[in-house]
Amino acid sequence: MQRLLIATNNKGKVIEFQELLRDLNVQILTPADINLNLDVIEDGKNYQENAGKKAREFAQISGLISIADDSGLEVDALNGAPGLYSARYSPKPNATDKDRRMYLLENLKDKPTPWKAHFHATIAIATPNGEVEFAEGNCYGEIISEERGTNGFGYDPIFLFSELGKTMAELDSEHKNRISHRGLAVVNALPILKKLFENG
Ligand code: IMP
Repeated sequence: MQRLLIATNNKGKVIEFQELLRDLNVQILTPADINLNLDVIEDGKNYQENAGKKAREFAQISGLISIADDSGLEVDALNGAPGLYSARYSPKPNATDKDRRMYLLENLKDKPTPWKAHFHATIAIATPNGEVEFAEGNCYGEIISEERGTNGFGYDPIFLFSELGKTMAELDSEHKNRISHRGLAVVNALPILKKLFENG
C-alpha cells in the first residue's frame, strides 16, 4: 500500500488529518510512526511558504509523499493578527494554547463587538523529489469572550461558528472537519492526492 506522511508535530492537527484522510486508499503515517523527530523553522513570509517548507523537508528526509498545513486565526479588529503567528502569539515563554487565547482576549477587550474572525489553512503536498502543490480553505465566524467546549485545540473554545451558534470546541470532530478551514483545504487537496497516488 502507498504511504502518506502527515508533516506536523501538532497533536491536534495530526488527529484531524488522520480523520480527514481516512477515505483515501493509502496508509497514513505520522512522524512518530517512523521515528522522525523534525522541527521545521517557520520563517516564511506567508502561509504558502511555511506549508511548502514543512512538506518539502519532511518529504525529503522521509522519502514519503508528505502533507503539511500552515494555518492561523485572523481577527478583523486586529488587522488580521495573530495570523501567521497564531502558534506563537503570547509574550510568555513556553506559553500554552490557553495563554494565547487569554492574550488574544486581552488585546480585543476594548474593541467593538462582534469580533469577526476567520481561520485560514494552506495545505502543501510535497513529493520526495521536491515537487509541491497547494490547496486552501477558510472558515468564518467570530471570537467570543468566554471559553465554551472542550474538543479541538488552539483557539477553538473562543471561535464561534456563527451559523451553528457553537464554538469549534463544542463541535465533535466529524462536524468540525466538515466546516473547518483544514477540512475544506483537504477537500480542495483531494484531486492532487488522488493524482499523485494513481501515478505512484
Ligand atoms: P502552525 O500552522 O503550525 O503555524 O500553527 C497554526 C496555529 O493556528 C495553531 O497552533 C493554532 O494556534 C491556530 N490554529 C490553526 N488551526 C486551528 C484550529 O483548527 N483550531 C484552533 N486553532 C487553530
